[in-house]
Amino acid sequence: MKTSRLLGLAVAAMISLGAMASPEMTYTPQATTFKVVTLGAAQGVTLRLYDQGTGGKARKSLKMTAKPIADGNLEWTATVTGNLKGKFYTFDVRQGSKSLGETPGIWATAVGANGQRAAVLDLADTDPEGWRNDRRPAVAAKDLVLYELHHRDFSIDPSSGLQHKGKYLALTEPRAIEHLKALGVNAVHILPSFDYASVDETRLAQPQYNWGYDPVNYNVPEGGYSTDPYTPATRIREFKQMVQALHAAGIKVILDVVYNHTFNIDGSNFQRTMPDYFFRRNADGSYSNGSGCGNETASERPLMRQFMVESARYWVDEYHIDGFRFDLMGVHDIATMNAIRSALPHDIFIYGEGWAAGGCALPNDQLGMKANIDRMPGIAAFSDDIRDALRGPWDGDDKAAFLGRVKGNEESIKFGIAGGVSHPQVDIAKVNYSNHFWATQPTQLISYVSCHDDMCLVDRLKASIPGITLDELIRLDLLAQTAVMTSQGVPFMLSGEEMLRTKLGVHNSYNSPDSINHLDWTNLERYPQVMEYYSRLIALRKHHPAFHLGDADLVRRHLEFLPTSDGLVAFRLKDHAGGDSWADIVVALNANREPRAIAVPEGQWKVACRRLAIDERGLGTLDGPTVTVPAQSALIIYKN
Ligand code: CA
Repeated sequence: MKTSRLLGLAVAAMISLGAMASPEMTYTPQATTFKVVTLGAAQGVTLRLYDQGTGGKARKSLKMTAKPIADGNLEWTATVTGNLKGKFYTFDVRQGSKSLGETPGIWATAVGANGQRAAVLDLADTDPEGWRNDRRPAVAAKDLVLYELHHRDFSIDPSSGLQHKGKYLALTEPRAIEHLKALGVNAVHILPSFDYASVDETRLAQPQYNWGYDPVNYNVPEGGYSTDPYTPATRIREFKQMVQALHAAGIKVILDVVYNHTFNIDGSNFQRTMPDYFFRRNADGSYSNGSGCGNETASERPLMRQFMVESARYWVDEYHIDGFRFDLMGVHDIATMNAIRSALPHDIFIYGEGWAAGGCALPNDQLGMKANIDRMPGIAAFSDDIRDALRGPWDGDDKAAFLGRVKGNEESIKFGIAGGVSHPQVDIAKVNYSNHFWATQPTQLISYVSCHDDMCLVDRLKASIPGITLDELIRLDLLAQTAVMTSQGVPFMLSGEEMLRTKLGVHNSYNSPDSINHLDWTNLERYPQVMEYYSRLIALRKHHPAFHLGDADLVRRHLEFLPTSDGLVAFRLKDHAGGDSWADIVVALNANREPRAIAVPEGQWKVACRRLAIDERGLGTLDGPTVTVPAQSALIIYKN
């Protein structure tokens, strides 16, 4: 059954790319076949078999046999008879008279601790009970509410009450699932959870923290989040248990993938297999560094493109992953992103950072940049436009924007509210970062105000608004998320914002200790109004199709902006937008320290949201043609 899954993968890749790759290890109880592709310059490959995943000497070393294949490359194979289940292996490629260093290969699907050796196992043995009945929840892109989570942040604090602290299994526990369901998010986006380098899996008893943007093995779950990194099947099974539990709760699982660079060049599995093939170089021969991490991969090269397509398919097929968040998507070429899109089922949600962290050795108009999203149908990008218009620019934590009553951000917020699609009432010339409407459909824009990068929302508000009071902080926090959750884009939130999370002002907490990154679950009792508002706000969005029309023409037809003024954005969703039970909805976002009057159509309106309260059944009524929006908060009113 697993073999047929892999064959399906290879066949699909063949169809989409005209090339065929296959696994580097094919196991049967009678014999295991190993295969690795190298450049034509390789002079030999030794397969080494080990009893352990780390330490000890090879129990056997075999010379592999070469066969020329396309593009002047060589395919090396070796078949070892007997049952190798539980053994480990590496490839040792010799090129230019020297060894490139042992590697588990680029396609290891199981590894020992720290991912230095690949493991022979039968993936069928890793399926938890009932796995074959696991299904991806049916949630359309327009209906998604994304929640970005780091395994350790979420569960490590004693206040979480979770048993499996910092582990995949935390997300199988009822308290975790109930929290996510109460909040109402329907997709968990997990920070890098493939095998990465920066946490030493052999010393997990000591606290270690990293976001994980330093890939080693792209097709194996990270061992640090498993209960036993030494036993290769454990991390695989526990990852699947996590997916299974979330799926059972109707929550999708989205993987943060970092194909744009590797932890290092020389020690990387890419470099040790096909030197310099997978990395871009500048004209002067130096390595290009569009990732800001010392290297950038060359997605436009056929084998790298194929690797990315097949890797994504593998996570979908083997782990039932529901979507991908591409780190620095702006490093990848457009053709590769489109190839990935077309190779995956339609319900797999794909989005990414539409920028790079430095100059790439490929022209910008060929890259998966935000500005090019209109050439990448079915792929979304984060909108730094609405993010920074709300909280302040990325290049200064102490700089405020709309929330801090800095003028001139209203049009960028409108751009985000409209989901980045062309809208006659959005003046693109006044939008902060975008000079054209880059989203063809509103589901191509990720609407957000904070993520793991930069300060979390509470810290940013504190840093950018001197002397802010707790009352003001909470009001502005809720106001910001109201803008996000009433946007026609796909809303996204950082885990813990519903707990009024603070990272004590740390701007880049990628390796900060738990004391900075942990969620403090006692805040749920300390600030219950925050969780209550967030959950009611998300429920309001989910109950009302007007807030997520999912179609550019519908947005243009039903979304009408009301006149804005400094620190105030207001809009109407009219004529039963998207078949909504509410005939007319007005949302007003007031960042000012004073109430503001706005003009609305005449008649009586029911109040669904005012100050810190949300109640879809109505919080009283207001009469048009003028209504007052309280200070530093949102007002949502409707007519049936
Ligand atoms: Ca690791």
